[in-house]
Amino acid sequence: MKNYLRFQSSAILLSPERDEDLYFIFNNGKIAVNKSKKIIKIPTRKDISEMGLNIKNPMYIGSFDNINCFGGTCENIPSGFKNLEAIGLRELSYLVEKELYLIAAKVFLLINWEKDHRYCGRCGSLMERKKNKNERALICPKCGFTTWPRTSPAIIVAVTKEDKLLLAHNKNFENGRYSVIAGFVEMGETFEQCVKREVFEETRIEIKNIKYFGNQPWPFPNSMMIGFTAEYLSGEIKEDGDEIVTAGWFRKEEICGKYNKSNSIGSQLIENFINTH
Ligand SMILES: [Zn+2]
Repeated sequence: MKNYLRFQSSAILLSPERDEDLYFIFNNGKIAVNKSKKIIKIPTRKDISEMGLNIKNPMYIGSFDNINCFGGTCENIPSGFKNLEAIGLRELSYLVEKELYLIAAKVFLLINWEKDHRYCGRCGSLMERKKNKNERALICPKCGFTTWPRTSPAIIVAVTKEDKLLLAHNKNFENGRYSVIAGFVEMGETFEQCVKREVFEETRIEIKNIKYFGNQPWPFPNSMMIGFTAEYLSGEIKEDGDEIVTAGWFRKEEICGKYNKSNSIGSQLIENFINTH
């Protein structure tokens, strides 16, 4: 029977450990995969034990199609043996099915979260994983302060003006590359307020008809991108001069070659504009 939820998130083991359990192992931001010909696989418990890989702080993540999934780090990922290779998360996103990629992203987020919360923010003691409960949290053994994994929401928005799309060149982009407007949500702000604020701060453009487009976990390092479309209301473009160096309105024929085609939500927003204009 097919699972309603292919991935079941859990902090405690859902079924007995088996040879085919999957191991999402990271080293320096790269994940270990078995690469044979063009087939990419996540290593299994059997692969890991045959290679004698020493996994640090393994954590249970949940089950995917009834197969247990574990995450962890290791000192180095030996290449070649059993076709093992270390690849970047972005590369992985093109090579495996989306649900598997999202589990890898989740492991990466959790590893980074634990690394950044080793000490209690209140009393400075070493934190421990919360045990005996199906709850993913770190707890301070001294004062009881508990912290849960956190994601930083960021908005990304495609603003259109008739047959043109607003694109901006950020100072951190490669030469000649543009993208739609994006930025982090501030505390106490709604997504819609954030969309208006970011577009206004970066380009001085006022917008209307903000509509939800989609979302994407973005583990670089710990964001969740929430995508929107919006329409021009008023104003003349004036770049903020800090982050945004140049911005402008582009017809679809002018866009090709100006953005990085990828499976990111930013790229999807641009392609959605091209397909609907
Ligand atoms: Zn404490």
